[in-house]
Amino acid sequence: MTEGNLFIVSAPSGAGKSSLVHHALKTIDNLCYSISYTTRQPRGLEQNGKDYYFVSQDVFKFMRENGEFLECAEVHGNYYGTHQATTDKIIKSGKDVILDIDVQGAAQIKEKMPKAISIFILPPSPEILESRLRARAENTEADIERRLKNARDEIKHCKDYQFVIVNDEFGNACRALEAIIRAERQVLSRQLDKTELIIKSFGG
Ligand code: 5GP
Repeated sequence: MTEGNLFIVSAPSGAGKSSLVHHALKTIDNLCYSISYTTRQPRGLEQNGKDYYFVSQDVFKFMRENGEFLECAEVHGNYYGTHQATTDKIIKSGKDVILDIDVQGAAQIKEKMPKAISIFILPPSPEILESRLRARAENTEADIERRLKNARDEIKHCKDYQFVIVNDEFGNACRALEAIIRAERQVLSRQLDKTELIIKSFGG
């Protein structure tokens, strides 16, 4: 069976990445979300096992030392990691997996899995990013300041990604993300078995 693709989506906090990823999961079949592990506290209506697996620093450290993470990084003062066994299982089943991770994690995955497809979501301006972060009303002032500062550093990495989507209009950004995922599925090397069978059926 052809293995699934691994899509990495990164963006500064507040760029609309989570909403875009959720939209893609609703509209595209055979696309699974990899739920990350984090040491940060749940925000708003977030649920354990749905948005994240919320774990203590000790549990995270144990998992990291046990080699359970495909990648992991400290972001905005908390630890985050992608569970290796879960993503492997999805990919081996032929389904695609989508990761919502930061630029450090994306770089680690590109090292280990060069075929992973990387997508960066850019906010249209710093002013819009700030107003989106404030509109969330879930972050403290210190947290907003830290996320804005980190955004300046993260944005510098967008040129390391294969695809960039400017999220100035949600509908357009959704269509762009969907187009990337669907186009990657049509790449010839991913369809060789099927293609060869059809060629043979034509006597080729
Ligand atoms: P938030 O706390 O706003 O949910 O996420 C903060 C940042 O951590 C976001 O940039 C998000 O993409 C990133 N993040 C979430 N899960 C992971 C993960 O498993 N690994 C890495 N490296 N970053 C993650």
